[in-house]
Amino acid sequence: MSDTQPKWTREAATALHDLPFMELLFRAQTVHRAHFDPNKVQMSRLLSIKTGGCAEDCSYCSQSARNGSNLSASKLIEVERVLSEARKAREAGATRFCMGAAWREPKERDMDTLVAMVEGVKAMGMESCMTLGMLDDTQVVRLRDAGLDYYNHNIDTSERYYPEVITTRTFADRIATLNRVQEAGIKVCSGGIMGMGEEATDRIDMLVSLANLPKAPDSVPINMLMPQADTPLAKAEPLDPIAFVRVIALARIMMPQSHVRLSAGRSEMSDEMQALCFFAGANSIFAGDTLLTAENPGDSRDMALFAKLGLQPMAAEEHACTEAAE
Ligand code: SF4
Repeated sequence: MSDTQPKWTREAATALHDLPFMELLFRAQTVHRAHFDPNKVQMSRLLSIKTGGCAEDCSYCSQSARNGSNLSASKLIEVERVLSEARKAREAGATRFCMGAAWREPKERDMDTLVAMVEGVKAMGMESCMTLGMLDDTQVVRLRDAGLDYYNHNIDTSERYYPEVITTRTFADRIATLNRVQEAGIKVCSGGIMGMGEEATDRIDMLVSLANLPKAPDSVPINMLMPQADTPLAKAEPLDPIAFVRVIALARIMMPQSHVRLSAGRSEMSDEMQALCFFAGANSIFAGDTLLTAENPGDSRDMALFAKLGLQPMAAEEHACTEAAE
């Protein structure tokens, strides 16, 4: 979305969301084709650089120290290990390397290491992305100056439903970090998790909040909850797959230039369901057999699916086509 594009209202978004399914898919695919090659999918690789022991209480997360999971807390891993994983990711076709730490926010003592990680990944010719929790102004500037391309900071759900999922920070805290990151010129990756017991209106409101940021996020990860043992959402009712595809299609229409990432939950999805998500406008995935802690389909299953569907990995420089992007 350009700065001049009109803001979205809940009413306009709901009218799209509630269209007959085939009409919604047709519109989403039409928007998708106006901005992207519909047969190309951007591939990111995710590495946990610091696992477990997180001070936040996100109800879906096995890394929270408050959720009683068995996951033990690790220290921030060494730069060399990160770069060796990034090298492997590049050889496997990933164009973006995402590094995630289970923190409420980074500590000052970790900043030099984080900067070295970003610089090392950039030196390999890959795009870099980090997710480290909340950032202050100084941290944002240090990461930007190191060459950080993307910062992931999900808003997870609607402002209304947020306190049902997380109590240790607010929706407004989340938006404040996103604004800080965007103002510094780092691209934003922000999305949410479906199937946490929220209503359809919460899913719509979440997309309205994202689309109405000063600039829509460059990447919008849409996750299907993968219930983790020992978390408050361990027994959450699964979301109807068609309701999930509606969210992908709506994200595509509301944020036509963004990469919509079919993110966590793919390992539980059939090939047909993933194909429907790609048709609805998803054009980015995490490759590899694990996410931060959850399962992912793995390269061989993904490559088999890509071959069946005639999909190809997108090169790093292929972004929304500029002719159709004003
Ligand atoms: S989702 Fe992130 S912030 Fe929340 S508990 Fe897990 S690691 Fe911490």
